[in-house]
Amino acid sequence: MKITRLDHIGIAVKSIAESLKVYEAMGLKSVGVEEVAEQKVRVAFLPIGEAEIELLESTAPDGPVAKYIEKNGEGIQHIALRVDNLEAALAEMKAKGVRLIDEKPRYGAGGAKIAFVHPRSTGGVLLELSERE
Ligand code: ZN
Repeated sequence: MKITRLDHIGIAVKSIAESLKVYEAMGLKSVGVEEVAEQKVRVAFLPIGEAEIELLESTAPDGPVAKYIEKNGEGIQHIALRVDNLEAALAEMKAKGVRLIDEKPRYGAGGAKIAFVHPRSTGGVLLELSERE
C-alpha cells in the first residue's frame, strides 16, 4: 500500500455555521457543505494547501458524530490519509492483522472512497483511509 499524503483532519462540531465563523476569521473558506446520509452527518471542507479540515456536524442524535461529542466534547475526531488504492490497502492491512472498522470501501463526502481503521489498532486514533481521483 502507498500513503500519498495527509488528506484531511476531521473535527466534530456541534454547529458547522458556528465553527465556520472562527475559520473564516482566519481566512479559510468552506468549499461547500454536503450531507452524507449514511453516516448521519453534514460536512464542510476547508482546503489548506494540499490538505483540508473537515468539519462534521451530526444530523441525528444517534449518529457517530453526535455520540463522539456526547462522550468527548467537540474536537478532532479522525485523521484521514490518502492512499493510491484503497481496496489493496485494506487487504494488506487485514493480512497484517490490523483491525479495521470497514473491510470494504464505502462512500465518503466529495465522492471519495473511504474506510476506517479501528482506534484499537492505532493507539487510539480513528484513522480514515481515503482514495480520490
Ligand atoms: Zn473524514
